[in-house]
Amino acid sequence: MADIIKLLPDHVANQIAAGEVVQRPASVVKELMENAIDAGASTIKLIIKDGGKTLIQVVDDGMGMSETDARLSFERHATSKITSAQDLFNLHTKGFRGEALASIAAIAHVDMQTRKEDSEVGVQIKIEGSKIVSQEVVATPKGTSISVKNLFFNIPARRNFLKSHQVELRHITDEFHRVALVHPNIEFHFYNNGSEIFNLPKAKHRQRIAHIFGNRMEDRLVPVNEETEVVKISGFVCKPEFSKKSRGEQFFFANDRFIKSPYLHHAVAAAFEGLIKADMFPGYFLYLEVDPSSIDINIHPTKTEVKFDDENTLYAILRSTIKHSLGQFNVAPILDFDHDPNLDTPYAYKERDAILPKVTVDASFNPFIEKTGGRAMGSSFQKTSAKGWESMFEGLDRDIDVEEFSSVVIESESEVQGSLYADGEVEEHLAATFQLRRKYVMSTVRSGLLVIHQNRAHERILFEKFLGEITVKEGVSQQLLFPLELTFSKNELTVLNEIKESLTNIGFAFESLEHETVKVTGVPLMVPESGIGTVLDRLIADYMEGFDSGSLSQAEMLAKALSKNLAIKTGDVLDQESQLALVNNLFACKEPSLSPFQKVTYTIISEGDIDKKFS
Ligand code: ADP
Ligand code: MG
Repeated sequence: MADIIKLLPDHVANQIAAGEVVQRPASVVKELMENAIDAGASTIKLIIKDGGKTLIQVVDDGMGMSETDARLSFERHATSKITSAQDLFNLHTKGFRGEALASIAAIAHVDMQTRKEDSEVGVQIKIEGSKIVSQEVVATPKGTSISVKNLFFNIPARRNFLKSHQVELRHITDEFHRVALVHPNIEFHFYNNGSEIFNLPKAKHRQRIAHIFGNRMEDRLVPVNEETEVVKISGFVCKPEFSKKSRGEQFFFANDRFIKSPYLHHAVAAAFEGLIKADMFPGYFLYLEVDPSSIDINIHPTKTEVKFDDENTLYAILRSTIKHSLGQFNVAPILDFDHDPNLDTPYAYKERDAILPKVTVDASFNPFIEKTGGRAMGSSFQKTSAKGWESMFEGLDRDIDVEEFSSVVIESESEVQGSLYADGEVEEHLAATFQLRRKYVMSTVRSGLLVIHQNRAHERILFEKFLGEITVKEGVSQQLLFPLELTFSKNELTVLNEIKESLTNIGFAFESLEHETVKVTGVPLMVPESGIGTVLDRLIADYMEGFDSGSLSQAEMLAKALSKNLAIKTGDVLDQESQLALVNNLFACKEPSLSPFQKVTYTIISEGDIDKKFS
């Protein structure tokens, strides 16, 4: 029974990019799965409880370890994968640093059971915070099973830093995808809190992608194949019309390792130029094979950042290969000189149903009956009670005469109003709004000309409306006569489940959220039936993009995403009542001067400014 693990000599160990291996449960998952693959496993099971905070277990049927190796594997710089510094430039394994197990054992309760094929019995080692607590001979199947419990039990600060179960689960799922995508010849099972969420049989690359991201993916893939002296490229790009608003499905693998490369990403984006809108992201699964000596994986501890010897050539080859593939599959537009390019529909819109921009109007509204603000803009606006006047002055331009405003309201302090119009001016000016270039709503106030950015203003209004509804759960739902069936990938489903409660609060109703097909039975009043799919798609994309970005609460993030996707756009025509409702609802907001994205929503051109023009 040969032992194979050796301690790396110091001079080799010192050449290895040092750093923290374990940042969160997903890092453990990555390291354990990579070890299983290096051990030649043909079936790998991943078992997770509570986003990995309670349990992460990886079971493989690989070559297992001898008793001595099992013990040694937890030492720092103990590895069977390299012996000299030279080996760093000829790597054929995922691991090489000999640090993962040592790092994991230092911050968790680890239980390893392993047996080599030719041994009759295996060994079980329990280790907690680097201390071996037991070592026993056990009967165990061939291969290795490592379970990691109570991650960061001895570093409370790190444990507290972990995100919710669902967020951690999503990071884990990302790592799982990255490993599973590059090894379609290995069978994978992934269990979360007792239920199997992925069952991936051995397959070809294309099927593996479909097994992970849903069958609808199959028809979206365009194969990419090229072999040059520098690199062999294989894999798929997604047809341009299936580009997404988020970076979701973008995968580069170099020599069977998931890598991040903004530079190569740019090459792909360049190949898609002209085929998709600038703010959309193409999907891709690209596998690069280069000479191991021409790639340096040892520049970062997580091994996802790599350095290629000849990046420029790689860029050029990648770009032209993808262009060629897109062209071959007839997805690139054909040059046609008699064709009026102004009539072209951007690719992203070709297959979509046309949704007429529509602003519904509350027909019962008569401005002369009620004069206070907070007017509902058709069904799309909740009747908002006007908020305190003081807030109106926050953020207003310096040159606005605050006193002049205040004088208007002082006498009605208790009975707050949401109208920007001074008393007595209201009726006179009610109709005095107009739209400028389908972009601004103009009106007059005492101090001058009020210019409102319609899109940003509506974003602000919707943001506060949704934020309120999510928190107090008062959204009005519109039942769908026929439930709508929508398909989502597993990743999107995870997100959907995560935000389900908030979505329900604002009026969405779902029948089942377990499978790829989701039944939507109700929607908020203002979401048109034809746009439900698009709204949910974008919401998920925006949410995924934003979920790591700092301290925003889920409610805020959702309200932001919803407001962005549902707000009146520049170019939308607004009728008189809608314009007026926009003005009134804006100034009924808590923070009318800025959009949820911190952009100015309105400005006032003072009489003085105008006078200057005439001087
Ligand atoms: P590295 O993978 O960089 O060598 P690790 O700390 O991850 O370092 O693992 C240390 C050693 O333990 C590996 O080199 C390998 O020999 C052994 N090992 C770890 N996991 C397994 C496994 N699942 N099956 C067989 N051997 C393993
Ligand atoms: Mg390893």
